[in-house]
Amino acid sequence: MLNLTKSTQAFQEAQQVLPGGVNSPVRSYQNIGFAPPFIASAKGSKIFDIDGNEYIDYIGSWGPMVVGHAHPEVVQALNQATARGTSYGAPTLAETALAKKIMTSYPCVQKIRMVNSGTEATMSALRVARGYTKRDKIIKFIGCYHGHVDSLLVQAGSGLATFSTPSSPGITAGTAQDTISLPYNDIATFRATMQKYGPEIAAVIVEPVAGNMGVVLPKDGFLQALREETSHYQSVLIFDEVMCGFRASAGGAVKKYHITPDLVCFGKIIGGGLPVAAYGGKNEIMQVVSPLGPVYQAGTLSGNPLAMAAGLATLNILTEPQKEYQKYLETQTTKLLAGLQELAKELAIPLITHQAGSMFSIFFSEQDIWNYDDAAAANQIAFKEYFKIMLENGIYIPPSQFETLFMSIAHTNADIEKTLSAAKKALLTAKKFL
Ligand SMILES: *Cc1c(COP(=O)(O)O)cnc(C)c1O
Repeated sequence: MLNLTKSTQAFQEAQQVLPGGVNSPVRSYQNIGFAPPFIASAKGSKIFDIDGNEYIDYIGSWGPMVVGHAHPEVVQALNQATARGTSYGAPTLAETALAKKIMTSYPCVQKIRMVNSGTEATMSALRVARGYTKRDKIIKFIGCYHGHVDSLLVQAGSGLATFSTPSSPGITAGTAQDTISLPYNDIATFRATMQKYGPEIAAVIVEPVAGNMGVVLPKDGFLQALREETSHYQSVLIFDEVMCGFRASAGGAVKKYHITPDLVCFGKIIGGGLPVAAYGGKNEIMQVVSPLGPVYQAGTLSGNPLAMAAGLATLNILTEPQKEYQKYLETQTTKLLAGLQELAKELAIPLITHQAGSMFSIFFSEQDIWNYDDAAAANQIAFKEYFKIMLENGIYIPPSQFETLFMSIAHTNADIEKTLSAAKKALLTAKKFL
């Protein structure tokens, strides 16, 4: 049994001052029944809690840590930047450097604006799309998460292709009413909705590889249909690549699926573990952004020099040409999932494994998973038990099957072997709950 004595104590203390003891809900282990490990430090593929437990980390701060924790080059870049002062609120060379670095991998991005969180990126991209098209309504897909933006924190009303209802108190019905929620991967429903509302639609926003209902891949033709209809009705197509950027492939989903969106949102990896996100795209659209145009968007700490340094160092490492890290990440992920499938087969457990580059997830399900309903129908109790045994055996994965796991370049073959030997025990336990 895992010793979490100090973490349990720390969690009690935290609960007295932070809602639920955390600053972001998923960290609280609310559905798990014990305190989350409080983290003391992390290095490479490992993360260490205050009780002295060591884990192989597949959360990677929910995506950013693609070069592993405390990579010496990132640490050095940060130390150097810190010594020069932590923020000036004025232009720096590092902002242009990171912008250019991102654009090298995403040629469809002609102008980019740095912000501080993925939420801010999608919120701003929507405002830009609305300002540019002078339209109000947007389409999003059920199970895609785009941060806690009011108009995106909605769920489908009853029936398909209806206007949405708020999925959190604090969001006005008026806000929710401008959002249409549609099932992911349902091309016919999307086309029919565009036929009806196309001229009123400012933007269609999508996770081109979904990662917030577990990993769910786009069906053949789905992203193509989004591109065709938005072009036809002159709506702005927004790819939210906050998670899948630099993960689904070296050029994210844009490169993997050869679909060019109008705007792209970035986050997670581009900050290398510091709070950075961005939105960008076609010149013609980005020209409406203040101070060039009338759409206001600003940030005291946007383009922060420490954040730019960490992001740039991370992308520089990841894209070192001789190293072929993207290939390595993908191969290692495939290896791990093949090992899991083999174990599942031995134990006669129905297991679905999904991968896009270095992001992956598993579902205890006999049927294919193409949308939120499919994901929700998978056996989450079995997943919870699987999670607990993995943690006990030193494998740090998200406490929910609706979250994505991430490979880093620091994960070794030995890590994968250790993960698979833990998974053997965890699957055996999960089987009892199927
Ligand atoms: C994480 C995430 C966001 C939100 O980013 P934050 O930095 O947490 O606000 C938005 N979109 C996607 C696809 C994400 O995975």
